[in-house]
Amino acid sequence: MKMYMFEAGILKSQKQYFTLGQGVGQAFDVPVPFALIDHPKGKVLFDTGNALETVHTKEEHWGAILGAYDPVMSEEQWCVNAIKKIGVAPEEIKYVILSHLHLDHAGGVGHFPNARYVVQRDELHFAYVPDPYMKLAYIRKDFDKDVPWFILEGRQDDGFDLFGDGAITIHFTPGHTPGHQSVLVNLENSGPRFLAADSCYTTDNLAGALPGLMWNAGETVRSVERMRHMQDAHGVTVMTGHDPEAWKSVKQAPAFYD
Ligand SMILES: [Zn+2]
Repeated sequence: MKMYMFEAGILKSQKQYFTLGQGVGQAFDVPVPFALIDHPKGKVLFDTGNALETVHTKEEHWGAILGAYDPVMSEEQWCVNAIKKIGVAPEEIKYVILSHLHLDHAGGVGHFPNARYVVQRDELHFAYVPDPYMKLAYIRKDFDKDVPWFILEGRQDDGFDLFGDGAITIHFTPGHTPGHQSVLVNLENSGPRFLAADSCYTTDNLAGALPGLMWNAGETVRSVERMRHMQDAHGVTVMTGHDPEAWKSVKQAPAFYD
């Protein structure tokens, strides 16, 4: 099994959105990562980054949220084109696991014709009727598509084993949104790696700093405590979701973890 990490461009943003009350007004440019896991039984994407529309028509596609998160992405960095660069066709993707349906994660929904889209039921519901303060972060055009959803049911499905061999398990990590999920990838040489996505933006969040955007603070803290336990007790490497410093040491495609 191999895991490739990609950058679907960056978001030009500010520090306080990632660490609550800290770095107000301070420029903070973050990577928008996604991953391709090449498992013997099928190829899997974890997240899909920004939509292609953000390359040329972002004002029309994203609207007012550009004031807080401004995407800078090239056509080559869009998930569908990025995987082609390592020789993977979109038709080969069997599952697209979506950490959540925010605009910088769900931009590739509907572009993988043979994939099932793994999402939490609570996330899919919330995305259609989000709390007002989070409404701008969901772009309905990105996810309101007739795709084969593969619905997971929160704690009841926690640790869902995608191929039944313990290689890729899906963990319910709510807090950032009601239906956030993360993935644990058990790699032979690189060891177990936890793709936290937005349940843990940065290493500061992993150390206990609250993120600047949360649906529920208590759930956010509990999710981070769980991954810290995985790190300390199970030797898991936590890969943060939007940390510009940590991202510098991540191997990016065509390099891979195996
Ligand atoms: Zn998010």
